[in-house]
Amino acid sequence: MNLVELEKIKEKALEEHIPIIMDDTLEVIEEYLKENKPKKILEIGTAVGYSAICFTKVLEENGIIDTIEREHTRVEEAKENIKKMDLEDKIHILEGDAVEILPTLEDKYDVIFIDAAKGKYPFFLKEALRLLSKDGIIFADNILYKGYVLSDYNKHKQRTAVRNLREYIKETTENEKLDTKILEVGDGLAITKFANR
Ligand code: SAH
Ligand code: MG
Repeated sequence: MNLVELEKIKEKALEEHIPIIMDDTLEVIEEYLKENKPKKILEIGTAVGYSAICFTKVLEENGIIDTIEREHTRVEEAKENIKKMDLEDKIHILEGDAVEILPTLEDKYDVIFIDAAKGKYPFFLKEALRLLSKDGIIFADNILYKGYVLSDYNKHKQRTAVRNLREYIKETTENEKLDTKILEVGDGLAITKFANR
């Protein structure tokens, strides 16, 4: 992988205030994935392709990433970045709203990375559980949202996002069929698997 080019993509995204994955969050995910070399990854929220490009490092040799993005200008930039990194055969962008695209998907994924509209997390969870392979894993970024989610924060325009993130945590931690860990890395990361019993 051309790490100089990757660093340029990262710097440009940060300059433009695009909320790309934070370094410590990425490290945790990569650490998990190195062990079990996934074949298929689904990402919700491509932005400019930074995280998807990083994930190709831990893919199985013939593995692929499907990633969903609804903003056309971001899709265009992501395509350019993916081309520059020579990863067009591994990363497929699905352009459109994930709320509409997810229900059309049927193949199972080994890893699902949720990193898009916080108000939609409960819906993304429902779809992710349907699309997750038996031994798969779901990562949900920004789950603690600047600490609002675990505080008594209850006002302001982010209220809907906070309510939906709390609902995501409640559903994943209280459902007996699921094992979930919430990590305080980056902006908060939820890690969910099917419980083996
Ligand atoms: N995963 C990226 C960052 C994603 S930022 C990285 O770490 O590099 C979140 C992105 O999700 C934004 O680009 C936003 O346009 C997109 N998004 C938000 N809600 C969405 C939805 N409902 N469907 C598709 N894309 C969505
Ligand atoms: Mg994020």
